[in-house]
Amino acid sequence: MSSRPGSPGAAPRSGLRRALVLALDGATWDVAEPLMAAGRMPNLAALAAAGRRKPLPSTVPPMTFPAWSSFMTGVGPGRHGVFDFTQKEPGAYRVRFVHAGDRSGESLFARVSAAGGRVLVLGMPACHPPEPVNGLLVSGFDAPVSTGSDPSRASDPALYRDIAARVGPWMTPDLAASDEPDTGAASAERAAFHERARATLLARIARKRDFTLAALDALGAVELAVVVFAESDTVAHHYWRDHDPHSPRHDPGAGDARKSAVVDVYTALDAACGEIRARFGADAACFVVSDHGAGGASRRVVHLNRFLADAGLLARRRAAAGRIDGLARAARDGVVRALPPRLAQWAFRRARGAAARWESTVRFAGHDWARTAAFSEETNTQPGVWINLRGREAEGSVAPADYERVRTELVDALLAWRLPGGGGPVVARARPREEVYEGPFVERAPDVVVELALEDGYAHSLVPTPWNRPANGSVHTLADAELAGARGQGMNGTHRPEGIWLASGDGSASAANLASIVDAAPAIARAMGVPWRLDAPDAGGDVGDRGPRGVAAPYTAEEEAQVAARLRALGYIE
Ligand SMILES: [Zn+2]
Repeated sequence: MSSRPGSPGAAPRSGLRRALVLALDGATWDVAEPLMAAGRMPNLAALAAAGRRKPLPSTVPPMTFPAWSSFMTGVGPGRHGVFDFTQKEPGAYRVRFVHAGDRSGESLFARVSAAGGRVLVLGMPACHPPEPVNGLLVSGFDAPVSTGSDPSRASDPALYRDIAARVGPWMTPDLAASDEPDTGAASAERAAFHERARATLLARIARKRDFTLAALDALGAVELAVVVFAESDTVAHHYWRDHDPHSPRHDPGAGDARKSAVVDVYTALDAACGEIRARFGADAACFVVSDHGAGGASRRVVHLNRFLADAGLLARRRAAAGRIDGLARAARDGVVRALPPRLAQWAFRRARGAAARWESTVRFAGHDWARTAAFSEETNTQPGVWINLRGREAEGSVAPADYERVRTELVDALLAWRLPGGGGPVVARARPREEVYEGPFVERAPDVVVELALEDGYAHSLVPTPWNRPANGSVHTLADAELAGARGQGMNGTHRPEGIWLASGDGSASAANLASIVDAAPAIARAMGVPWRLDAPDAGGDVGDRGPRGVAAPYTAEEEAQVAARLRALGYIE
């Protein structure tokens, strides 16, 4: 049993001012503001009254991996190099799963550590394998560990084990296989998922709060604590339609537990934030941040490759039409889902690279490359289109001299794409990648970066083309039975570009007005008295081809399988 070496509120040894960052993944003022006004989020309301709050623009795309990576490094995706959970490999019709070693740019945690500050970072996505810090860093929901008690997710495994032995592990948000909201399950089973998940999320918040309090005790004086709660994101994905009576996916028959799930999670997070802040010390600067916002999904799912095929830009192999992707999906899903987790892991150890290979097959198989000028990975987390460029892609068909012309035509076609029945635009923005990003990693992004339009404030979902159902067309309107969301149907809540930012307390005044999430880390560093180099051309520092210090190993096949299974269970990949 470790004793408290010093009160967390004790005077710091480093001379730095102290800061607490409460990171609520996917949180939006659209939900929090009315609750604060009604007195149901008293802790955030008190922080806001003493400080400043504003909407915080996210990255493009407004997704967990690129946005938290920008939060950590103070640079955009073109400079830190993380665009999505997966990354298409240069010149190949293949993806791999992204890990912390793919990130460039020094993190806020490393800078505070280097300045002599003690650091506690809990649950940060895109941080596995964990980088060394002066203190403790525990990687987030994407960590490829089979149980939360696996200490390999922590920068200091012994300390992690010690804390976990006292209060239980930092939660791993695996939803058990039977809890997946999946078309493979009977609708009654899927309904049961939504009845159960709310309680699971509330239990996780309590566990994470307990872990945080115990970690603060174990570490003693901490100059920077960053605690990430993913529950605000998960609850919005699965319960937005129950929370929002105007949602086109709303189910009037939902019970009270479902209807209140979003509010219950937000109010539980507020209470947890209050307890953590009280323990950290109410005199310290306190920041509340989300990586992106949240909102409702429309009834439409859109199929970008079907649209490209209709436009004559993508061709399918005749024999393959419908079959290859079905077979690949069945094979991948058979291992990922149908087998018990231990057997699935064994199968992936036997078949090295299987998760990435099968994911690649699902995304790219069946195209007739010789007759394909443009193709999409069809991930809702990074909508975009690649040009099948000769000399760059393995079976490129577009001559380099035609690249700009094809890309301009593609952008024009995407912007002219309309919903069926004389409806509005499908695509809000389609831009060449170099108009969206700058830095050494722009080429990791698709040639055209796509942002889907909203329909009456609700977002369409990009899902893979079901080639065996041509009648669905490039825009498919979901049937009533499909509205909860599952594979092929998107989730009923989706991301929005505006997250939240709240700066309160000692030293936070200069951090009140941020232009976007890219400015968060420099602002927090300034509030703490940690220098942030802004004059060098590579403002984020350390931009190059190496990852964070001490993080090098790529994922093993087994780890990739675990990441893939978790992203799929949460609905991030199909
Ligand atoms: Zn997120």
